[in-house]
Amino acid sequence: MSWLKRERTGIKQATKPDRGEMPEGLWTKCDGCGEALFQTVLEEHLWTCPNCGHHFRVSARTYVGYLADPGSFQERHTNLVAGDPLEFRDAKMPYPERLAAAQKDTGEKDAAICGVATIGGLPVSVALMNFFFMGGSMGSVVGEKVARTIETAMDERRACVVVSATGGARMQEGILSLMQMAKTSVLLAQLREARLPFVSVLTDPSTAGVLASYASLGDVIVAEPKALVGFAGARVIRQTIGEDLPPGFQRAEFVLEKGFVDRIIHRKQMRDELGQLLAFFWHSTRGFAPEGGRSPHRYDSNAPRST
Ligand SMILES: [Zn+2]
Repeated sequence: MSWLKRERTGIKQATKPDRGEMPEGLWTKCDGCGEALFQTVLEEHLWTCPNCGHHFRVSARTYVGYLADPGSFQERHTNLVAGDPLEFRDAKMPYPERLAAAQKDTGEKDAAICGVATIGGLPVSVALMNFFFMGGSMGSVVGEKVARTIETAMDERRACVVVSATGGARMQEGILSLMQMAKTSVLLAQLREARLPFVSVLTDPSTAGVLASYASLGDVIVAEPKALVGFAGARVIRQTIGEDLPPGFQRAEFVLEKGFVDRIIHRKQMRDELGQLLAFFWHSTRGFAPEGGRSPHRYDSNAPRST
């Protein structure tokens, strides 16, 4: 029967190679349906599975390419780096070494990037978190970048958009991490007084200290399908209340049903739908203008759109 075995193996290789046979870097196994997918196919689909719709995690820099109008993103505040104010040491690695390793792995200085861009031709100030950098944890650099993103929105009359991908606050910076929650929340209250919209985009995962501050303060909160959205982890809640949790607990669809998020948007539609949403705010605020004032921006309705 060896011929049959060979033939079977051949068929399998042609359509769905075993994990061990996958050439490194060419195939990725989908966590949703288990299919092995060509990375080029995944890139065409913005790292979503064409079979089951699973949304893979992507870096902040990749995401901004999907979100902003092509070529419109201008990064700012690139030189912010974290200190080690608590001289944090745990059993495994001192904080500075952990930071250096994350910087080497990702090519980024910390777990967020920020800047200005247009979405659907409309001016935005945007920050995006990067889960691949220490779990997207929010320390003083991430908090400061989000804060400056909100300030830029106010200074330049732009809409504010923050894309979250995070496990929460960065424990290595202790209370300084938690202070970012208050700092960003105060600025968002000022943004609201300035009559500028804030759209919070929740990707997988958006949890803990970040969800308990800016991520849940959007005028509109949208999420990617099946993104984990919650404060404490399911295991902790289960142990605390001593009850089983309902199916789909803390997934985007569950929190949509409970009214916590306003809309679930597939990554491929994100730019277009946010563009439409921002256009609504643009028209209702007479071009993001302060009351009685003039906006410094012109709405270019011919701006490049996603296909
Ligand atoms: Zn899949």
